[in-house]
Amino acid sequence: MTEIRNVRTPTAAGGKRSNVRSLTLEDLSLWVESRGFEAYRASQIAGWLYNRPLAAVSEMHNLPLAVREALEADFDCVPAYTVRSDTAGDGTRKLLVGLGDGERIETVLIPRDERITLCLSTQVGCGLGCRFCATARIGLRRNLDAGEMIAQVLLARETARPALLTNYVFMGMGEPLANMDCLLRALDIMTARWGLGISPRRITVSTVGLVPQLLRLTRETRVNIAVSLHATDDRLRTELMPVNRRYPIAELLAACRDLDLPRRKRITFEYVLLAGVNDSIEDAQRLVHLCSGMRVKVNLIPFNPFPGAAYQRPDERRVLGFQNALLAAGIHASVRTSRGDDIRAACGQLAGHRD
Ligand code: SAH
Repeated sequence: MTEIRNVRTPTAAGGKRSNVRSLTLEDLSLWVESRGFEAYRASQIAGWLYNRPLAAVSEMHNLPLAVREALEADFDCVPAYTVRSDTAGDGTRKLLVGLGDGERIETVLIPRDERITLCLSTQVGCGLGCRFCATARIGLRRNLDAGEMIAQVLLARETARPALLTNYVFMGMGEPLANMDCLLRALDIMTARWGLGISPRRITVSTVGLVPQLLRLTRETRVNIAVSLHATDDRLRTELMPVNRRYPIAELLAACRDLDLPRRKRITFEYVLLAGVNDSIEDAQRLVHLCSGMRVKVNLIPFNPFPGAAYQRPDERRVLGFQNALLAAGIHASVRTSRGDDIRAACGQLAGHRD
């Protein structure tokens, strides 16, 4: 393998070849130069990698054989693929995506009106142990590399008209900010003109609230931020989300207040409603208090059940009561209707099922 100076891809550690779809145009330019190919080959390769359906390098027919062979020698070029696709009664589609090492992740296409929101995974499993989430049960198997995040978009573009894919949310399996370098690289490729050409305004990253990474994300990108809050006091939040021990509510909210968001932009707080646990009017009032003085939107997510879960979804009256208490206090509050729950594609139900 040729030594590629300055081409640092986060997954290249341990001698493993990096995913070819983790490469930026700059990486490709350096590689092309190091291999002695013509400079214009870099953007030609980027075009094949990011502006076409997922293809094997052997199919990149206008690249000389020498370039194709060099790519295959230096990088992992095996594309991810759709193992299985299920469509729910409401039109939500869940793709089971197979990765090069046999691991599987899930990517969900959520239609609303004429548009589709794409829900992307960032890890195989998750290591954060939120009690109400099915993905947590798997534990963390490994991080995805940037190319595996990009492949999910390309696979979705094969099953839905690309023009209909208007919003991208990092709310699938995994904690995006626990895989920061690969996430940033994927966002770079997603938003670049030579890459997928997606506006950062159409991308939302959801996090449990890893404070230093959250600050870095807002410094280095222009994507929307959603923070999973889920409780209004530290005792309950720690019980539901063990990560709260590391970044308790006061510290998290102080960081959110200081985030350097562009004017007019709001941070979103996600709040899963668990019957009898965090869904009382007193909880809503404490939430109002926590949000005071901040430009926030609250996204209420009635709990999506999964086999063996210890929680229940509150009834609709209770959900609306909670929402109304927020609205009455002048807080933007919406209820996320659960989509795709009959194929276990709703929030917190992704577990890489094979059956
Ligand atoms: N790791 C990221 C993305 C998780 S999925 C995060 O924690 O933000 C997106 C949202 O779904 C999060 O707010 C998560 O807490 C929520 N969620 C997880 N399990 C859920 C369930 N069973 N029902 C409803 N929402 C759930």
